[in-house]
Amino acid sequence: MCGIVGYVGKQKASPFILEGLKRLEYRGYDSTGVAILQGGAFSLVKKTGRVANLEREVAKFNLNGTFGIGHTRWATHGGVTDANAHPHVSSDGKIALIHNGVIENYSSMKKFLVSKGYTFSSETDTEVLCNLIAYHYAKEPEVVGENRFFASVRKTLLHAEGTYGIVTMCVDLPGEMVAARKGSPLILGLGDGENIVASDVSAIVARTQNVVYLKDGEIVRLTPKEFQITTLDQEAVSPFVDKVTWSIADAELGAHAHFMEKEIFEQPLALENSMRGRFSEDSSTANFGGLNLTASELRQVDRFMFCACGTAWHACLVTEHLIERFARLPVEVDYASEFRYRNSPLDRNTLFFVMSQSGETIDTLAALREAQRKGYRVLAINNVVGSTIAREANGGIYQHVGPEIGVASTKAFTSQILLGAMLALYIARLRDMSFSDGVTYVNALKGAPDLVREALKQAPHIKAIAKRFAHHSDFLFLGRLSLFPLALEGALKLKEISYIHAEGYPAAEMKHGPIALISEKCPSVFFAPKGEIFNKVVSSMQEIKARKGPVIAIITEGCELPPGLADEVITIPDCHEAVLPIVAAIPVQLLSYYIAVDRGCDVDKPRNLAKSVTVE
Ligand code: GLU
Repeated sequence: MCGIVGYVGKQKASPFILEGLKRLEYRGYDSTGVAILQGGAFSLVKKTGRVANLEREVAKFNLNGTFGIGHTRWATHGGVTDANAHPHVSSDGKIALIHNGVIENYSSMKKFLVSKGYTFSSETDTEVLCNLIAYHYAKEPEVVGENRFFASVRKTLLHAEGTYGIVTMCVDLPGEMVAARKGSPLILGLGDGENIVASDVSAIVARTQNVVYLKDGEIVRLTPKEFQITTLDQEAVSPFVDKVTWSIADAELGAHAHFMEKEIFEQPLALENSMRGRFSEDSSTANFGGLNLTASELRQVDRFMFCACGTAWHACLVTEHLIERFARLPVEVDYASEFRYRNSPLDRNTLFFVMSQSGETIDTLAALREAQRKGYRVLAINNVVGSTIAREANGGIYQHVGPEIGVASTKAFTSQILLGAMLALYIARLRDMSFSDGVTYVNALKGAPDLVREALKQAPHIKAIAKRFAHHSDFLFLGRLSLFPLALEGALKLKEISYIHAEGYPAAEMKHGPIALISEKCPSVFFAPKGEIFNKVVSSMQEIKARKGPVIAIITEGCELPPGLADEVITIPDCHEAVLPIVAAIPVQLLSYYIAVDRGCDVDKPRNLAKSVTVE
């Protein structure tokens, strides 16, 4: 949440920064701004709204400096106004700063600074940090061999409570930038005669694939030709230079109207990438080298705990179902934000997992840290390589689905389910699952990309259904067993991107309350796959129909519904239980996408939301 770009180099900074901000816009988009250091002062342009607004504004100025910072904001402290947009400049004009996170003790800092004569033009916590650096900078004595600006940033951060990823410049030091992080991601991009700092590699890969992931508690001094990292306690850090494996094209829209559409249609490929190289040679089980656990250690586990937020939490619920069903071990799933405060009892042989696409979700990170504090080994299922969760976990599984840019998660979700299904297989094969059942399971998973391709062919039909129902303001999504989490996910997708009220429920539970909502104005989307509960789900449909509720039924091939029961039917391929939740995700993703498009919503940047939620 919130996008940061800083550039020190030999080329004009503003075009690069604006380009980077566009790539980071999915992280926050209520307001944007840039500050370029030129002619001995900061040229500052800030604007509410999207980067496109900022770009128009920037065009009115002659920004030709080669050092600058830019930000897309997701407001936490202070409304969405030009004044609250970042960068902030200290009241003495010396320091410019961009910030991702929340400074929890900003009020006491502000009181102190006001008493020292500093003035404020915004309501943000960020401006307080900026003025505190200016305060230290003004009073810091000149010490030979020490950089006064760097020292004042360091001192300020030692007083800061909360979370931050910051990049800051001093008017007296052109060509120099200081960045630091605690709780919010920051990545250095090492270019040729230029260095970059950004909150996400997508803003960097246009120039370089050589990156250094900063760790919490680290601070870096950057110039066009060099960088030095230390801890806030002044210990030297020897950096590890990583290579980004994807290119700029992966983060571009191509022929698609939205990233969400692109990512929905990329799912067959994403699933292939997630499973590549992860099956045993005899095709009877899965392999996960990154778990850092031997088979016999895994055999000691008698319970699993999964923590996540949002869509990843739904993927955990599917995983729970699959592990319990196939490996016959109990699984508990908790919201990461609840787990960390709930002091849940965990026994010795519990294996703890977290799931997060970005690997930066602060609630999930906090749950991971809390579990580690209690002495647990924590494993992570996560997409972004080098993310904080990936680094802090004791092992894990990368999703390898490439950048997911649409705020509403799609390909990361199905990949998380796939990896959950593979994990269930792996554990089941260590226990009671037979070789031949393992082979059947593996073959089913290998076939998932093609089944998803098949399901995607329903897009034109689903688009027409979306058109028919787009004006409704309430929806129910109903499913059972492994598709109950899909009902939750279908409702979440619709809420997120089209602002329609929707609820997900276990289909049979619907009669214990939500049925009161049913009328011709409230459509119900049912998952009714072939199997033992098909007839039960059909009965629930009858109950809805008897109350004049429109029914959209998602059935698997070969199922037959009583004539006239469903107003619309979407048929997906019949498949193995472990693959069903993946294939079933496609129609609800498409339905919510097309409804949002029909309603004219900003699909990739829904209001009030941001990807990678890095605040509590
Ligand atoms: N707390 C800061 C603000 O409200 C930064 C928010 C962000 O991370 O975008 O301006």
